[in-house]
Amino acid sequence: MANRKEFGSKVRKQALTRSGMVCEAIGDWYGLPEGQRCARDLAYGVEYDHYILDANSKDNSLENCRAVCPDCHKWKTANRDTPLAAKTVAQSLMGMKTRVKVKIPQRPKSPKPNTPKPVLPWKAMYGRIEP
Ligand SMILES: [Zn+2]
Repeated sequence: MANRKEFGSKVRKQALTRSGMVCEAIGDWYGLPEGQRCARDLAYGVEYDHYILDANSKDNSLENCRAVCPDCHKWKTANRDTPLAAKTVAQSLMGMKTRVKVKIPQRPKSPKPNTPKPVLPWKAMYGRIEP
C-alpha cells in the first residue's frame, strides 16, 4: 500500500469524482465563511487533504479525504494541522465573528460641556484698535 500519510489512488479518484471537479473545502475549517464552499475549479490544481488530521486518525478512507485546491490545502495545513496555530486562528476567528455580530451603534460625540472655548478679544480678532 501507499505510505500512511497518503490516500490510495482509488480513494483519490473517488474523492475527485465526488467533488465534481470543484474544491471541496467548506466553511470555517478551511478559513472560509461558515457553510460556504470554496468551489474553485480543480482543473487548475488539486490536492488531497486529510479532513481529520492524519496523525490523530490515520484515516485514509474516502470519508476523510477532501479534494481541495492548493490554496485551501495550504491554508488548512498552516492553520489547522498545527495545533498551536489552530488555537490562535480559532481565537482570531471568534474575535472576527464578535466584531461582525456585535454592532454597537455609535452616538455622535457631543462636545464636552466643561471645556470652555478660548475667548478671543474682539479687538485682536478684527485687528482694530478702538480709541
Ligand atoms: Zn479551495
